[in-house]
Amino acid sequence: MRLYAYVNDEPRVGVIDDAGLIVRRVPAFDGGLDLALAEGRFEAALADARGVARGSEPDGPELAAELEPLPAIEFPGKIVCVGLNYRDHLAEQHLETPPRPTLFAKFGNAIVGDGEPIVRPEGTHALDLEVELGVVIGRRARRVPASAAMAHVAGYVVVNDLSARDWQGNKAALAPGERGDGQWLRAKGSDTFLPVGATFATADEFEDPHDLALRSWRIPGSGPDAGRRIEMQSGTTADMVWRIPDLIEFVSKAITLEPGDLLATGTPSGVGVFREPPMFLEPGDRARCEIDGLGWVENPVVDWTDVTDDVADDATERP
Ligand code: MG
Repeated sequence: MRLYAYVNDEPRVGVIDDAGLIVRRVPAFDGGLDLALAEGRFEAALADARGVARGSEPDGPELAAELEPLPAIEFPGKIVCVGLNYRDHLAEQHLETPPRPTLFAKFGNAIVGDGEPIVRPEGTHALDLEVELGVVIGRRARRVPASAAMAHVAGYVVVNDLSARDWQGNKAALAPGERGDGQWLRAKGSDTFLPVGATFATADEFEDPHDLALRSWRIPGSGPDAGRRIEMQSGTTADMVWRIPDLIEFVSKAITLEPGDLLATGTPSGVGVFREPPMFLEPGDRARCEIDGLGWVENPVVDWTDVTDDVADDATERP
């Protein structure tokens, strides 16, 4: 089943039909998927959602296109991200497979929804996108073996792991003599650096989540290609080095994962910094990410100088 998060005074969630057009509200999810997960009501609400999906409790219909989307997961307790997790993304950097997953973190300040601006902060000139499969934890996972890990997954979302490549230290983004931060926190964790789609696919929606096509585009706002979709990434989750069960086993040995936590599982090749010549997101552009069955997340890019306090607040405050 696929759910869709939107706002109508307060966070709402509905069942979205196969065509992605009609959203029928599930009152048991009012307040958002995060809240239902955190409060241990997720499974019960899901049962209600199945009733709504069967048409027994219609409340709608409402057209998806007319709803204001919310991030399907907006306030995760933790956002654990995995770098260097696709073979073709390693190959484009001429890197060996690391001996273990490369973990880093983002915080809730990074999350924005479909259509909300990605803000390029002061001091970077090398903003880049990464389409990723986001795994949402449904049951607490502490020292869970890979063989049992999938039972801890509630579902999936599409996310865009934004990076400031110069701060990250990528040579192709640095001027001679310039250096990166030495770690990735600012490069990956700045406000608005994690757009999250409005569609949430329940864990049973995919027979195998390691068989999903994922793609991203830069849509320039000016220049000869203005308005045209430039395909950046086109990959498959089959290319992951460490699959979801392996990641949950590895992470949960050291970091207990709680319901609502988000695991960003890495990105395929085609990102801007490794293109020849490098291509970065500029203010006025749009960045779009899609995963089969999970819809999309598309966001305009703005410069920090163009941001009013309202936009900045929207990006970081619980409504
Ligand atoms: Mg990434």
